[in-house]
Amino acid sequence: GDEDSDSVTPPVPSISASRREHRWGDTTSYAAKKKLQSWFQLPSGRWELVKILSTSGTESVLSLPDGKVLKVKTDRLVSANPDILDGVDDLMQLSYLNEPSVLYNLEYRYNHNMIYTKAGPVLVAINPFKKVPLYGNDFIEAYRRKTIESPHVYAITDIAIREMIRDEVNQSIIISGESGAGKTETAKIAMQYLAALGGGSGIENEILKTNPILEAFGNAKTLRNDNSSRFGKLIEIHFSDTGKISGARIQTFLLEKSRVVQCTEGERSYHIFYLLCAGAPLTLREKLNLRSASEYKYLSQSSCYSITGVDDAEQFRIVMEALDVVHVSKEDQESVFAMLAAVLWLGNISFNVVDNENHVEVVEDEGLFTVAELLGCGVEELKVALSIRKMRVGNDTIVQKLKLSQAIDTRDALAKSIYACLFEWLVEQINKSLAVGKRRTGRSISILDIYGFESFDRNSFEQFCINYANERLQQHFNRHLFKLEQEEYIQDGIDWAKVEFEDNQDCLGLFEKKPLGLLSLLDEESTFPNGTDLTFANKLKQHLNSNSCFRGEREKAFTVSHYAGEVTYDTSGFLEKNRDLLHMDSIQLMSSCSCHLPQKFAANMLSQSEKPVVGPLYKSGGADSQKLSVATKFKGQLFQLMQRLENTTPHFIRCIKPNNLQSAGLYEQELVLQQLRCCGVLEVVRISRSGFPTRMSHQKFARRYGFLLLESVASQDPLSVSVAILHQFNILPEMYQVGYTKLFFRTGQIGVLEDTRNRT
Ligand code: ATP
Ligand code: MG
Repeated sequence: GDEDSDSVTPPVPSISASRREHRWGDTTSYAAKKKLQSWFQLPSGRWELVKILSTSGTESVLSLPDGKVLKVKTDRLVSANPDILDGVDDLMQLSYLNEPSVLYNLEYRYNHNMIYTKAGPVLVAINPFKKVPLYGNDFIEAYRRKTIESPHVYAITDIAIREMIRDEVNQSIIISGESGAGKTETAKIAMQYLAALGGGSGIENEILKTNPILEAFGNAKTLRNDNSSRFGKLIEIHFSDTGKISGARIQTFLLEKSRVVQCTEGERSYHIFYLLCAGAPLTLREKLNLRSASEYKYLSQSSCYSITGVDDAEQFRIVMEALDVVHVSKEDQESVFAMLAAVLWLGNISFNVVDNENHVEVVEDEGLFTVAELLGCGVEELKVALSIRKMRVGNDTIVQKLKLSQAIDTRDALAKSIYACLFEWLVEQINKSLAVGKRRTGRSISILDIYGFESFDRNSFEQFCINYANERLQQHFNRHLFKLEQEEYIQDGIDWAKVEFEDNQDCLGLFEKKPLGLLSLLDEESTFPNGTDLTFANKLKQHLNSNSCFRGEREKAFTVSHYAGEVTYDTSGFLEKNRDLLHMDSIQLMSSCSCHLPQKFAANMLSQSEKPVVGPLYKSGGADSQKLSVATKFKGQLFQLMQRLENTTPHFIRCIKPNNLQSAGLYEQELVLQQLRCCGVLEVVRISRSGFPTRMSHQKFARRYGFLLLESVASQDPLSVSVAILHQFNILPEMYQVGYTKLFFRTGQIGVLEDTRNRT
């Protein structure tokens, strides 16, 4: 594309009002003159391939595919590629690199079951929402032998393995995309390939079996995805010196706890609850006093129990088998199921109001007795923990009855906390089973499957954290693909027009600045006993209004300009979710239990809420210290993650969802375009193509091709030899640059040299 000649003004702002548009248009007048095909955007927003019949001045007459003839302003046309480039497997190969051409190319491939396309160094994967014949042993073998070259998760995973071995550097495969775009499936496909190539010890089967377990406990049906991951996951797969898998380690991020106690109409809680209710064998049912899912309040509130095409009972057997494989003992499995049943029965515990101040007592019914039985605690202790709060004031302890809403919150907090602890404990068990042991000599490949950018009608604390994480990942992506690239050119002193890219440092600063950033202000307000969501929102407006990425909204809302677009957050519930308090009474209850899991959980809960500042204070000296807030803990996890990723060679996969209906064969241009913009795919191609992607040091180049020289060179220094080679092979001056230390080539230039070399 030529920057100056660009003047694309498509008619529908929603699809074209991109800040990036100006870089994307290309010389349409040329196409118009030659009467070539062009793209024209219909009022519906859809781009159509049109024929230009004639052009006079600034206007062109064109014919639409349906035969209609239109007269339009020439500058509303966007050049289309010749048919011969239909469906190229790397967007870099397109002659005209504009949005409609990219969209068309992806759609063309999608319609031919070619769901993978390269965008320079990035792999784009479009969710087929159906079985596509691209996987399995034959394909794995073909990619291993390189008899197939088309883009694939297998291919990118293969590169990761090779680079790990060749460069002795750890690798990462970073998968991103919206909910339902196919991240988790893609991660599993990559794991399949790693297991096939690095298998042999048996540990690879264990690694694969972690998937059904983590999905059962961490995934749920949402309106967007029947199998939506409600946590982020990094799995680090270790290899021995001989290239065999030697173990793995899983790290999880920010499980959505709230789903345990509430979920939206049409959604489900975590799969495992339904699996257990549907699939538990009779003896287990009796032991746990299990009922059907509809009899549990936590599950019945969304009136959605089953998922089309999924047999929960069968899934339960799969999970139990997988637990065996990762060495969770039968006793432990039963304890796990007991905790799940306890959570379900907790939700059925109800309260009676006993006075006109709304104070409550726990109803003595089946729910209460069953929970006490399952946790192994006294009924009386359970009643007290759920209806009374002990507070320390000075040296005295005062006892206060809870009001109805407080009691419900206490009950729900306990249920959420038990579930979150259970999830953490399971991951810990899995990690023990997969542990590499002491001989950590080898290298690793990490696969990151983490929730993509989210923007809903109503965005809360969860979206706030998720989008913050995505800003961090985006920066990592930018850094690697753009900054490092540019820096390398600049360092080597070559003449390369600087390419602009979206730098999201300002937005990250908005989140992370101390003391006046979103996270600091949130934490500060969370420690004030009188802080509310409204006082928090007001503080933000007071301190951050000058930040260009921030805008205060009416009442309790604020808007952030993310790299992927603006998101308005409603602060309702922010402080409570960030504090995530569990009362000491609940922790004490757990530690008094006779079952071993509750005791372990109590220790975990205690370590996380060691020094509560709001609410009851049991431990002396705790008054001025503070529990780690959820946001701060998450930020710490993210920094740690980024540090780990920084030490790896990254490979990026961008998953794209072609429609919101989870249906096959439906490709919605606008939806796809919006995702391509969000993840910077278009920029990547442009940069990769406009740059000089092939590099070689003068030394290496001279050594590799020097013997091909027909005439000897006066000076034998690598630079002179290199230049002589370039001349001899007639490599055009615009096709390469000579840097201080390296030669830089545009795509495809080294080919002729390699060919000659191989023939010699
Ligand atoms: P979330 O962020 O909600 O976890 P996700 O990006 O992980 O979403 P997936 O669960 O991987 O999305 O994919 C959603 C669904 O899309 C899958 O359950 C599957 O039905 C379908 N799908 C995704 N990738 C493929 C594929 N390569 N082949 C066939 N179906 C696929
Ligand atoms: Mg997922």
